[in-house]
This record gives sequence, C-alpha cells and structure tokens, in this order.
Amino acid sequence: MIETPPDSDGTPLGVLSRVFGFPGFRGLQERAVSRVMAGGDALVLMPTGGGKSVCYQVPALCRSGMGLVVSPLIALMDDQVASLRQLGVNAAALHSELDPDDAARARSDLHNNKLDLLYVSPERLLSSGMLDRLSRVPLSLIAIDEAHCVSAWGHEFRPEYRALARLPDYFPGVPRIALTATADGRTRADILDALAMPDAEMLVASFHRPNLQVAARPKGGELSQLLDILGRHRDEAAIVYCGSRNKTERVTRSLRERGWPAVAFHAGLAPEEKRLALRRFRSGEPVVVVATIAFGMGIDRPDVRLVVHLDMPDSPEGYYQQIGRAGRDGVASDTLLLFGGEDIARARHWLDQSQAPDAQKRVMTQRLESMIALAETTGCRTRALLSCFNEELPQPCGHCDNCRHPLPTFDGTVAAQKVLSAIYRTGQMFGALHVVAVLRGKKTDMVSRHGHDQLGLYGIGKDKPDTFWRSVIRQLLARGALTIQGEYSTLALREAARPILRGEETVLLHEDAATALSAALDENG
Ligand code: ADP
Ligand code: ZN
Repeated sequence: MIETPPDSDGTPLGVLSRVFGFPGFRGLQERAVSRVMAGGDALVLMPTGGGKSVCYQVPALCRSGMGLVVSPLIALMDDQVASLRQLGVNAAALHSELDPDDAARARSDLHNNKLDLLYVSPERLLSSGMLDRLSRVPLSLIAIDEAHCVSAWGHEFRPEYRALARLPDYFPGVPRIALTATADGRTRADILDALAMPDAEMLVASFHRPNLQVAARPKGGELSQLLDILGRHRDEAAIVYCGSRNKTERVTRSLRERGWPAVAFHAGLAPEEKRLALRRFRSGEPVVVVATIAFGMGIDRPDVRLVVHLDMPDSPEGYYQQIGRAGRDGVASDTLLLFGGEDIARARHWLDQSQAPDAQKRVMTQRLESMIALAETTGCRTRALLSCFNEELPQPCGHCDNCRHPLPTFDGTVAAQKVLSAIYRTGQMFGALHVVAVLRGKKTDMVSRHGHDQLGLYGIGKDKPDTFWRSVIRQLLARGALTIQGEYSTLALREAARPILRGEETVLLHEDAATALSAALDENG
C-alpha cells in the first residue's frame, strides 16, 4: 500500500500531485473524483487522451480499500499496471496471459490486502472463485473502463460486459465509475441501463480537439492520395486504416516498395507479428502502421501526426475514435478520410445482409447515414463531427478542410433532376455507369440492348464530362435522394428525390476533385 505518513496530504489534490506529479485536475476530472469520493456512481465521457485514468486512480488511492478496475484489453492493463508501479502504486492485473509468477504474486498480494489497484478482465472477474476472493477484500471503488463495450449497439460490443450489471449484488455500496471515449446519446443511455446505474452522475467532456485537422476527400487514386499526404509527414508516426486485412498488407507492400517504414497490423496476424508491429509503433521511431480497426484501444503513442482512412468507417463514433489517436500530445496533427461510392455500397450491402434485429439495424443505418453526411458535408467538418455527439460548436472551427478551403458550390437542381429522371426512366434497374452513359448519349451495348437511345432524355447531359455526373450521383446518394441496392449496385430513388423532381427543392452541389469514382458505382453500368 502507498505509505501515507500522518502529516502527508491524503486529499485527492494531494495524491494527484504527490503520486502522479500533476499540479491540478484537468477538465471534469475533479467533479468525477469528488462524486466517487462521496460514494456516488458516475459515468465519465472523455475523448481519448482526456485523462480518464486519473478519475478512478486518484479516488482509489484516497479511499480506503482496493480499487477494482474492469478492463477489456490485456495490453492496456499491463501498460497501466507498469506505469502505476513506477509511481510507487501497488497495482496488479489478473488476466489469462499472465506468466505464473506474476499471477501468484498478484493473488498473494490480493489475499493479504496489499493491493491499491487490481485490473481484471470481465471474464476473469466473473469466473467462479474470483468473486468469492474479492468479496473478502474491502473495495474503494469499481471502475469500468471502455464502458461502451456493454452496448450491444456499439461497434465494440463485448457480451461479457453484460454480466457487470450484477456487480452491485456482490459489492453493495461500493461506488462505481464507468468510463468511455465513445458515446452518443444512445450509447450513454445504454451504458447506464446495462450497468444498472440509474443514479450515476453523467460527466461529459467536450469532444472538441482543436489540434486535429479533419479533412475528407472523394477517392481518386487512393495510393497517390496517400503518398501525397504522407509526404507531408516524413519521419513521423502515422496510422493508415483500411477496411480489410488484405488491403492492409497490399498497402504495406506498396509503401515499403517506395521506401516508407510501413508495417501491417490486423487481427489475423500471429501474436509474435502483432507484438513486433506494436513494438515498432511504440519505439518512438518514424513508422506508418497500416491497420484494420483491430489496431485500437490502448494504442497510446502521443506523437502520431497523421491518421488516414482509406475506407470510410461505418459510424462517426468509430471515425472519431480512430482519428483521436492522432495528436494526443496536443500538437497539431492531420487526418484524412477518403471515401467513395464503393464504401457506401459496401456498408449498405453489409447492413442489408446483417441478421441483427430491426431496431439495431435502424440505429446502424442512422449511424452510417451520419457518417456519409459527414464525409460529404461542405460546411465546417469539425462542427458536423461534434454535432454527432450532441455537441454544438458555436463557430466554424477555422482549421478543417472546408473552413480553410471552402468548396465552391453551385445550383445543381437541374443536374440533379436530370440524374433522377434518367434513373427513373430506365426503370431503377441500372448502376451508375449506365445512367451516365444514357445522360451522355453514349451508344454502349447496354444502351442499344435496352433501347435507351430512344428515351427523350438520352444525351441531355452531353455538355458535362462523366466525372461531373458521377459526382452528382454521389452527392445525391449522400443526401439520401438515391440508394444503391443489391449485388449489382443498382441505383434507385428514395423519398427525398420527390421534391427535387417536382422542383420544390433547390439542390446545392459542390464541385469536387473526384476524377475517378470507385468500382461499385460502375458495376453493371
Ligand atoms: P484517456 O484514458 O482518457 O485516454 P489518460 O488517462 O491515458 O487518457 O491520460 C492522457 C494523458 O493525459 C496522460 O499522458 C496523462 O498523464 C495526462 N494527464 C491526465 N490527467 C492530467 C492532469 N490532471 N494534468 C496533467 N496531465 C494529465
Ligand atoms: Zn471547420
């Protein structure tokens, strides 16, 4: 146990400065700490890097008894335990990958009431014997880290977390503090509900990270777009997220061939390869980690200067969390999201196929739609992102891509009507390539076979290039006037197309640099 001489200051502020070396609390830390000190429950929402650990570590050391921390990730636990020990705190972890000596020492310290903090995985906590053993140890508090894992609707659901609702039965009167960096309103409610914490004080920090420069661009030659932005971050650390394992390896190879210190990371790697990749990432050397979202929680390198998405995430929550891994040290850092029709089609197709219950599917669809809107927005992108978390930025951020280089917009109502009519007149049975061919008056096989050169609108879009029409289609997809359906990526109208066709709605479109739209839009053209 931490030695607290009688004359020493055992108050939260005293412990904060004496043990952790911080002169004062940051943001909502103080309120979270006092809530738990007073024996109440709390739900803390802070962005990654916001300082969540202090919220439970300080009261755990100030209150009598041992702090119990439930955490889903072994690597994360081991890191925390190691740094706490360096500070002189007697912390230990119990999980499945511990070597026998460490496990024995942890169990004996636990038995002898010598631990300040014990980190456990949820499955270990709920295993028989563990609860029993813990019931004989006085607890100062229970912290539930990465609490969003309890939400079945979240992107990181862990079924074991559900059982944590029973904790108050085993440890009545012990204050609980749940912490997460991911939480829209729905997830918040879900956490309180699933953890049975109706009276928890909700402490929501601002998610605004002014040092992150958010930017998004339509795909147009991914690799060259990637190389372009990497070129501005030579000798730094970068993370490049891809939608599939295969792609991480492909991109890693391409980067290495060009001399970049790239390394792949995904869940399919052997443990040794993962360790190696992590070691390189943590070494402080320049490195480009090309990863799936498996490269996630517990990644704590403060000086990541760039996060690129080569494929669109399926929710603003996931996106925010991933870009949040840049610039944890507060230094200005870049992010770039590349998106295309293929992403939209793939995500929608996946949702269609999902066996999830309808209510859940609706939520996932909403999130996807918000993500698309975020990618397509012409306004302040930081503001659009924060609004996904119910946070309002009073003014445009001034540093996102759209604030720095406002996109020229034009009245695209007539262009939109042409596209929508062409889709309607051809029976809503074709993909973008064919629709564009009809608009441009091209005599393709498909046009001849279906007699579409006889349509009144055949060739009404001759005056603009293919890229223009594809961009219009993508923006109509983004605003929900169109949808892509089925395995052939067929374009069909949605309700929102109606007022546009009737001329009741003006469509403001932006010019963009998309020179190539992705394959899915072109399929079955
Ligand atoms: P999170 O878990 O929310 O991602 P951490 O708890 O890992 O964040 O803290 C992020 C960083 O902020 C750490 O480097 C930590 O040392 C630092 N930090 C936390 N609280 C304070 C504070 N009150 N004063 C100064 N630095 C702090
Ligand atoms: Zn902005």
